[in-house]
Amino acid sequence: MHDDQTPDWDLETLAIRAGHQRTHEQEHGEPIFPTSSFVYGSAAEAARKFGGEEPGNIYSRFTNPTVRTFEQRLAAMEGGERCVATSSGMAAILATALALLQAGDEIVASRSLFGSTVSLFDKYLGKLGITTRYVELSNLDAWEAAITPATKLLFAETPSNPLSEVVDIAVLADLAHRHDALLAIDNCFLTPALQKPIELGADLVIHSATKYLDGQGRAIGGAVVGRDAELEELFGVVRTCGPCLSPFNAWIFTKGLETLNLRMRAHCDNAQALAEWLEAHPAVARVHYSGLPSHPQHALAARQQRGFGAVIGFEVKGGREVAWSVIDATRLLSITGNLGDVKSTITHPGTTTHGRLSDDQKASAGITEGLIRVAVGLEALDDIRADLARGLDALA
Ligand SMILES: *Cc1c(COP(=O)(O)O)cnc(C)c1O
Repeated sequence: MHDDQTPDWDLETLAIRAGHQRTHEQEHGEPIFPTSSFVYGSAAEAARKFGGEEPGNIYSRFTNPTVRTFEQRLAAMEGGERCVATSSGMAAILATALALLQAGDEIVASRSLFGSTVSLFDKYLGKLGITTRYVELSNLDAWEAAITPATKLLFAETPSNPLSEVVDIAVLADLAHRHDALLAIDNCFLTPALQKPIELGADLVIHSATKYLDGQGRAIGGAVVGRDAELEELFGVVRTCGPCLSPFNAWIFTKGLETLNLRMRAHCDNAQALAEWLEAHPAVARVHYSGLPSHPQHALAARQQRGFGAVIGFEVKGGREVAWSVIDATRLLSITGNLGDVKSTITHPGTTTHGRLSDDQKASAGITEGLIRVAVGLEALDDIRADLARGLDALA
């Protein structure tokens, strides 16, 4: 909880200090509480705690001090009243849906979502009688047209992956609220270091902590940040259905947050320089990165974000074979669909992360055969560039 004990610090300070109340051991670093349950001083105390008359820990599926430290720190950084941590980013999205929606409700979502989010919405929420309509992220008229009286939730990732499209969060929040719906933003690609959706009017912020919050590829986890009212429902879902975060992973994410601001700034610097270099390379047809003036929404991204993130999509001149040759020529970059890591990664979206889409869906989502995605890490820029140059220079 972003409670009275959290002073009005800047983001950089909150990332390092918020959420840790020292125990009687006077520890400097945040402790880990690897315990499933908690004990009481008396039968009467146990009864009061179980009855909710007295706050305190009961069982780690409900609350755990290490998990609470992570939740309070992330809530403070996102500027939300409360955070609930979950076992993964997908569990965060599932818990949000179970907490806020019921049969007959509708979601309107941007179509360029994380693949498992689309499967969750279509296959599993669909089974529960919750329908999702997809629209082009940046087309606000399309969002408005897709809303019906049954729409309860608008859901977007901005910037999108891998084409870096951006939507105006403040305008989308207004639209949601005019139709009595809530706006949830998956803030995985920018994190609170670079974008604060709640300040712009969003109701809920969703995270895969697996990505930049940890930043070093060590653990799977997630979180939802928002107002007390909605988060109390969400807490009920996690407490009852069980997708809770382990104390050990919460501790990893807490320590990850301490370097988040520095890491994101360094990720952005590497990505910006790499995008500019790629745009000038003769073998490259097009670069999708909102930090480039050539990006159609560069001005919006510059206004809404504190940085442009580190995911770059670029199209080589030629099709799949050419794209694969560039990927296969790398020796440093990891060929993997993951992102949000100090290690740079490279992938061919058309045959991996977006491989399940039909040709029509790929075409409308802009996933061409020549498209390559690089999630830029923190290795030396010269080494990343040289690794891509090996394949690209052979084409030019
Ligand atoms: C990875 C990812 C998720 C899912 O998170 P997990 O921790 O892998 O469950 C959700 N949204 C986005 C944008 C992601 O990149």
